[in-house]
Amino acid sequence: MSVIKPEDLGVPFTDATKDEGRSLVQDGDVQLMEGSGDGAWEAQVRFFRRYHHVWLERDSNGAVTHECSCPHLENEGSGCAHLWALLLTVDREEREAAFGDAGPPPIVPVYLIERHRKQLKIGLWWSGDDDSPKLRRLPADGDHLSRVTSGADVQVLKALEPVGGGRRNLLDGGGFMEPDGPWPLLAEERSAVLRAAGATGRLGLAPEGGDPTPLSLDAGDAFELVLGFAPDPAAPQLKLAGWIVRGDERHDLVDCDAIATDRDPVVVVDGRICSVAALYRRKMTLEFVVSCQRIPNCLTGWHGIFHAI
Ligand SMILES: [Zn+2]
Repeated sequence: MSVIKPEDLGVPFTDATKDEGRSLVQDGDVQLMEGSGDGAWEAQVRFFRRYHHVWLERDSNGAVTHECSCPHLENEGSGCAHLWALLLTVDREEREAAFGDAGPPPIVPVYLIERHRKQLKIGLWWSGDDDSPKLRRLPADGDHLSRVTSGADVQVLKALEPVGGGRRNLLDGGGFMEPDGPWPLLAEERSAVLRAAGATGRLGLAPEGGDPTPLSLDAGDAFELVLGFAPDPAAPQLKLAGWIVRGDERHDLVDCDAIATDRDPVVVVDGRICSVAALYRRKMTLEFVVSCQRIPNCLTGWHGIFHAI
């Protein structure tokens, strides 16, 4: 919700300059002049024993002009730390004006697993500043992510950073490089993200329509996948059936919702996210198991791995 974005200024800023500008703000060296606001801001920025005067203005067409009394722009061809410091200060002022001194309220995200064909994706959702009962997507930009403050949620964001393309520098907005979720959760990234999101108690399965289904993480070891033949009560023949099994616990695959079918299969059963050991990793995926119509074609080649019962 920044009124002026860095790219509006039309000059590049080096990382070193941005760091310097941030230090000036943190050290209290930026003093906004009276009358600043409403499209025009002026500040004096302490620089050793003197001050630099810097101003920024946005006209009604949105064009931004700026000037600083220091020679940096002229000498270096890039924006100076004073201008960057003013930009940060304006941004903070505008936020406070919009939300009061306390700043905007914290955001409590909901983490929803979304299925896109074969890929398992996860998205950030929230109820918005109007606290709407209907969840909407939470943009992973700096303005929103900076309002996610609880420790458990920050852990999820950290785990999500790699899938979101990494995090921008705070001065560049601080959001994910790829802020438009949902993001695919590949096998290697999956468990860390799911574990962190599960710990918040706000992990769910995105709805086809209606409300999301809450999910918890199964705490035990991975289940084993077992295939076998079972009598078919409807006909005098055997049918192929599958289960996930762990000790005495056994669930028919028909009751399992396979949400990831790659080399780290994940199924949802009774609202729990369960890992399934990829016993037949080279050839078999759960997708095969749950796609019954494909089973007969595959049987011939794979008969060696079934546990007949
Ligand atoms: Zn300057």
